Parts: sequence; C-alpha cells; structure tokens
Amino acid sequence: MKRRITEYLDIDLEASEWQCNRCGASLGPASQNYKQGCLIAQRSPEEIWEPLVEAPVTFSFKPGWCRIVEFYCPGCGGMMEVEMLPPGHPITHDIELDLDALRARAEAEAAGAEVEA
Ligand SMILES: [Zn+2]
Repeated sequence: MKRRITEYLDIDLEASEWQCNRCGASLGPASQNYKQGCLIAQRSPEEIWEPLVEAPVTFSFKPGWCRIVEFYCPGCGGMMEVEMLPPGHPITHDIELDLDALRARAEAEAAGAEVEA
C-alpha cells in the first residue's frame, strides 16, 4: 500500500517508511522526518541569485541571512525538496502523517467502501 504524498515522495504503509517515488529508495521510518533519510546540500544564496551589482544592496540574499538547503534521494539523486533557512535553523519537519488513519482509509478503499475525502 503506497500513497503519493508529494511529487517525489511516497509513503509505504505496510513497511511504514518514506520512499522516493522515482526509484523506491527508502528514506527512513514514516514516524520520522523523511529529510533525515535524504542527502543534504547547503548552498549560498549567491550561487543561485548572483549579485547583480557591486554595492551594499545587490538584489541577492546575503549569505549571512539565509542558506539554501537541498534534499536529494540517496538512491537516484532526484531532488526531493528545497528550503531557505536562516543560518543555524534546524531542518523543518513539514510533513507528519496520521499513519493509522491512512492505513484505515487504504484498507477501506481496498475493501471497496466509499471513503469521504
Ligand atoms: Zn530516488
């Protein structure tokens, strides 16, 4: 029983784990943050938005104000998520699912029952 959660992220309800939906690689237990199972890269915002002028204000984000954190699948290298965080900020835990409710819904659907959205 797999469910698509985001464009690149599935949850396997039987194995209770996050999986890449491109290659099926495990991204760790469903009870934890899937980002802990990803490869992580940190980039300076100036790599992405190059400063346009040499001045105190450059039309780019200052590296001391934020960092770009990229999350990649360890199996296929697909980018799973990107977030912009202040330096020192912990990685966000943005998806937390009610696994019991998802399992009950999947079982009801498999049994042919109509399930309210
Ligand atoms: Zn993958």
